[in-house]
Amino acid sequence: MKKPSNLQRLLGYAGSHKYLTYASWVLSALSALLALVPYWYIWQVVREVLAVAPDLSLAQDLVRNGWMAVLFAVIAVLVYIAALMCSHIGAFRIATNLRLAAMEHIVKLPLGAAERFGSGRLRKIVNESSAATETYLAHQLPDRAGAIATPCGLLVLLLVFDWRLGLLSLAPVLLAFLIMMMMTGARMRQKMKEYQNALDDMSNEAVEYVRGIPVVKTFGQTIFSFKKFKGSIDRYQVWVIAYTKELRLPMMLYTAAVNGVFGFLIAGALLLTQDGVTPEFLLDLMFYIIITPIISVTLTRIMFQSENAMIVDDALQRIDSVLDLQPLKETSHPQHPKGSHLELSHIHFSYDGKNEVLKDISLTIPAGQRVAFVGPSGGGKTTLADLISRFFDPQGGNVKIGGVDVREIPKEELMDTVSFVFQNSRLIKASILDNVRLGRSDATREEVLEALHNAQCDDILEKLPQGMDTVIGTKGVYLSGGEQQRIAIARVMLKDAPILILDEATAFADPDNESRVQAAFSRLSQGKTVIMIAHRLSTVANADHIYVLQDGEIAEHGTSRELLEQNGLFRKMWDNYQTSVQWKVAKEA
Ligand code: ADP
Ligand code: MG
Repeated sequence: MKKPSNLQRLLGYAGSHKYLTYASWVLSALSALLALVPYWYIWQVVREVLAVAPDLSLAQDLVRNGWMAVLFAVIAVLVYIAALMCSHIGAFRIATNLRLAAMEHIVKLPLGAAERFGSGRLRKIVNESSAATETYLAHQLPDRAGAIATPCGLLVLLLVFDWRLGLLSLAPVLLAFLIMMMMTGARMRQKMKEYQNALDDMSNEAVEYVRGIPVVKTFGQTIFSFKKFKGSIDRYQVWVIAYTKELRLPMMLYTAAVNGVFGFLIAGALLLTQDGVTPEFLLDLMFYIIITPIISVTLTRIMFQSENAMIVDDALQRIDSVLDLQPLKETSHPQHPKGSHLELSHIHFSYDGKNEVLKDISLTIPAGQRVAFVGPSGGGKTTLADLISRFFDPQGGNVKIGGVDVREIPKEELMDTVSFVFQNSRLIKASILDNVRLGRSDATREEVLEALHNAQCDDILEKLPQGMDTVIGTKGVYLSGGEQQRIAIARVMLKDAPILILDEATAFADPDNESRVQAAFSRLSQGKTVIMIAHRLSTVANADHIYVLQDGEIAEHGTSRELLEQNGLFRKMWDNYQTSVQWKVAKEA
């Protein structure tokens, strides 16, 4: 077939169902040939009618031939149904396996990779790309086998009856083929990719737009955020219009050629019958007029298939873009961290292989210390914290927990060692009990309740109808950002990992909640090694050690008192912060 590499890859996912796929092609081709047989019987009928006319009572085989035509038509349909059954079973198996393979791969990827892809794009790739292969395998390939068999059978029939008329009815086929080649060339392949990219862009921007609504509302950035989304729609529109216009002429010619078979036939017949019409010639002409509509049907089928082959090609490439991402290497000599002190030495990291986001960062955090990362936005704080639990691996240097390189620590153990609380912790649509139990699945109800209590969630439980069995996200159950954050803290408390990373964890808490969230955090932090990342400098003032990150480097570090005396970047941030607090207080007063 046209693209053995793609097809072989797909069939590789079929396992033993591969043979069903093959069977579907054979059956479909067989059905296409069987579908031609009725035309032969119809021709017999016509011949007999012409022979005995005008006294039709002399005809003997009319009825039998008519029924034979029906019989073969029915058989052809039944065989086609069998072909589709085979092809569907194969196709569903392949799509399922493809999806499983992608999902299994995604699970092994560094957490950060999935995030970089954007959840919208990742979902689209896995779902839609595997669905694209499904239509291809279940319908298009069997149809193509049929579409190849039909012209072969036709060719035989056409040439058997009257080769001159046969050739005439093939002329438009040739013409249509040439036009079709023009439409599906390499340039069109490129176009198809652009089309998919424009669609992806639009879908991503839409997701980002919706996700950004809280931020947009908080900071009043409406126009800015809307621009990107609108831009992607505009680009799509421009693209689609240009594409459509470009296809207008070839599509027109193609349709004209395919449907113009009669034109060729009649013109040819007139030329051939200049010396008078014989009954045999009339009979043959009638046969061709009966059978030629199949030509346009067949051609149209092939036409849409080559377009769809491009879609599959593109779908596989997209799936490959996920499958090609390198999973985190699993260690072959697992080691266990001894203690919870952290050592980062000479860390170099870049997301794109070009711009270093972290430049030679070294620092150590003794067990049980509370340190803070502060600094301007984009300085690399989140990235640095992400490296500790292997969201990514650094390109240079290493991260050690308890004296062991994180790459040597088994994945599950690392997850149990480091806990994260982010700015917008996500709760899933399940009961509060189940949400907290995500921290440790074998926890008892009592342990969950204790964690909730320690995370200052008592007031939340009181106001909910079924306490901690209330399902979040059901009708009438609404939790504010700060409340969700406290439940997320209970989850982390239950997990009780020795290292805790808080990334802007209080940024969105409303004033009502903030004191409670703070109390929950200090309870959570007891006896742990803590890294806080914070905008609000008040939260970091009493940290044991503060690192100021700027442009991927440690600009300065020390206790807050030392840093204030240094009169550097921290001092400047502190003064700004004081002014903004005063300004806020003044505004509220
Ligand atoms: P901070 O947390 O200090 O605001 P980040 O660690 O989030 O800083 O970002 C540091 C730099 O890395 C920024 O320039 C940011 O644009 C870039 N960056 C962050 N996340 C990604 C990502 N997933 N892909 C590519 N670049 C990123
Ligand atoms: Mg950050």
